[in-house]
Amino acid sequence: MVSFMNRTSTEILASPIEYLKGVGPQRAMILRKELGIDTFRDLLELYPYRHIDKSHTSSISEISTTTEFILVAGFLGSLQILGEGKSKRLVTTLKDPTGTVQMVWFQGISWIEKNLRPGFRYRAYGRIGFYNGEAQMTHPEIEGFEEIKGEVSPLLPIYPSTEKLKLRYLGGRQIAKFTYQLLSQLRERDIPEFIPMEICNKNELISRFQAFQSIHFPTTLRDYHQALFRLKFEELFLNQIRTGMIKTQRQKESRGVIFSQVGPLFNDFYSKVLPFELTGAQKRVFKEIRQDTATGHQMNRLLQGDVGSGKTMVALLTMLLAADNGFQSCLVAPTEILSNQHANNFSEILETLPITVKLLTSSVKSAARRKILEELAIGTVKILVGTHAILEDPVIFKNLGLAIIDEQHRFGVAQRARIWKKSQIPPHILVMTATPIPRTLAMTAYNDLDYSVIDELPPGRQPVRTVQRYEYNRPKVMDFIKAELKKGRQAYVIFPLIEESEKLDYENLMKGYENLKAYFPEPAYYISMVHGRQKQEVRETNMKRFVSGDTQIMVATTVIEVGVHISNATVMVVESAEKFGLSQLHQLRGRVGRGTDQSYCILLTGNKLGAEAKERVKIMCETTDGFRIAEKDMELRGPGDIAGTRQSGLLDFKLSDIVRDRDILQVAVRAARDLLEKDPELDFPVHSGLRQQLMHEKGKTPWSRIS
Ligand code: ADP
Ligand code: MG
Repeated sequence: MVSFMNRTSTEILASPIEYLKGVGPQRAMILRKELGIDTFRDLLELYPYRHIDKSHTSSISEISTTTEFILVAGFLGSLQILGEGKSKRLVTTLKDPTGTVQMVWFQGISWIEKNLRPGFRYRAYGRIGFYNGEAQMTHPEIEGFEEIKGEVSPLLPIYPSTEKLKLRYLGGRQIAKFTYQLLSQLRERDIPEFIPMEICNKNELISRFQAFQSIHFPTTLRDYHQALFRLKFEELFLNQIRTGMIKTQRQKESRGVIFSQVGPLFNDFYSKVLPFELTGAQKRVFKEIRQDTATGHQMNRLLQGDVGSGKTMVALLTMLLAADNGFQSCLVAPTEILSNQHANNFSEILETLPITVKLLTSSVKSAARRKILEELAIGTVKILVGTHAILEDPVIFKNLGLAIIDEQHRFGVAQRARIWKKSQIPPHILVMTATPIPRTLAMTAYNDLDYSVIDELPPGRQPVRTVQRYEYNRPKVMDFIKAELKKGRQAYVIFPLIEESEKLDYENLMKGYENLKAYFPEPAYYISMVHGRQKQEVRETNMKRFVSGDTQIMVATTVIEVGVHISNATVMVVESAEKFGLSQLHQLRGRVGRGTDQSYCILLTGNKLGAEAKERVKIMCETTDGFRIAEKDMELRGPGDIAGTRQSGLLDFKLSDIVRDRDILQVAVRAARDLLEKDPELDFPVHSGLRQQLMHEKGKTPWSRIS
């Protein structure tokens, strides 16, 4: 019985749109082409983008230059046809006791002329424009008072339309009529509920059937909002179920080495060596990693945490866990300097423990290199730190169980494959990045990945003080740098890099460098410079001089090392800060504020800024919270533009906006997680509706990979 009913319902909504009364093949063709409406279901899912509240007509005298849309009522004036050819138009007026407004049509003139009756009462809704100082409505929605009497609701839906559609009398009004007709012919069972009762009740969701009625033709605004909530919830909930299932399936199919126990290396380190208490976030993430690596499936985890949040410590703990279980680990960093820094830190902090750390980069030559390769092959080196040199073929591990990739947002498939080849069973992979991904994006587009966040800084950090300074204040900024250098600190000065005019950027950088030299002459001061046109070796040398304190100022483009820890650098000046994106500014600012001294970030900008640039600078001065900044970045640029966003098609929501609807998203996330925890494959009979709904969705189902 149930399956029969479901089949019937599927059939009705799957009917081709031409079968809807009044549509027919010609209009169907246009609806398909212009709005992508193929079936009854598509029409139902063409949601109105607003409703006109017809219970509130305004007086014509209320129209002002700030009026956008307005609904007015009054008597129609005489119809006049003016102009010729393209400027041919029908002009008339609507008059109420308070004033008169012009109305104009450029299209469908003959129909209007035939159907409108001057002297009668009409109601008109439309956008207000001003021509020669006079208010005017172009192509308003207009109707006589007899029509109005038959209305079910004062809230009238407005649908997206195109000029072409309007020409064929398929404007918003007509779409509303079709939708109304379709809805009146559907019954509850045609739009069956698929969200389990328990979840509906808990979240006070109205039924699907009701929701579709009310999103189009609400009786009150409250109805509309309830419908909107229900359908957004549904959309986000389905996304979560879908991606959650894909993730489970991927985890199930993979095979991984097992870190079953915490051993003496970890325990000794944790109780005797670790110089601080882990933050709550570090503990939570490590627990997640513990769980992943104990299952027999391969871990593939992205670990995100702001600069300085202590990702490296989590990495180290995981490597000790691997070693306790007899496995080797490697940590791959993007540059030599960063590799050096990690290797030195690890060697130092692990000094008292029986475990060897080795460094492998392309600078490690012949004899030393050979020795390391040998030790790796027989397994005496348990932790290897290095650059991509680690991935090269001659590097053979005895039993690699864990690979950690530091500061790399994009760790490509090819590189992953190279790591996999280094071991019979692919090692666990942990990719660490400080590039913030907005939470909402992580929860949706990245939900099928294992993903951890360190969203808490170690205690006692002083947030970087950020200020905006205008170009005309440059001398003061220079004096400020001088004062900091006098205290023995170091400073960065960053120049923008805009790809379309590389030559100009380069000239700017050189000019800036010369200017700085004038302010900070040798031998009192020394300046390092790093940019993309330099050879790798030159760049590294210049960087090293700054790291070691030989130079006090580092002039650089954005190529500046990610992740390098120079706690003595307390000033960051960003030149032409308005030209940088938010995420980039945040990344740059992360270079300072790593020690105990108060650090400063000075955003030097032109004297006049556009609205968006102003907004970016403002948020940077307001907060150091990387997630808030990422969220704002997404708000300003849209999710599609965020670096690293996958073009997965997972984000083409019809109703929801993951930034604006983050509250609904959170509820949906929790509901989906709870459900999948109990019934990961949707096998329970109460979930059969949900299962069927997912099967419906073209190309997105979690089952598509199996078949
Ligand atoms: P990230 O790689 O996330 O940018 P790091 O791992 O380099 O950050 O950590 C930054 C600094 O904070 C390091 O000096 C590290 O020793 C220190 N640190 C890490 N975790 C803690 C903690 N829980 N308490 C105090 N200091 C910590
Ligand atoms: Mg780091």
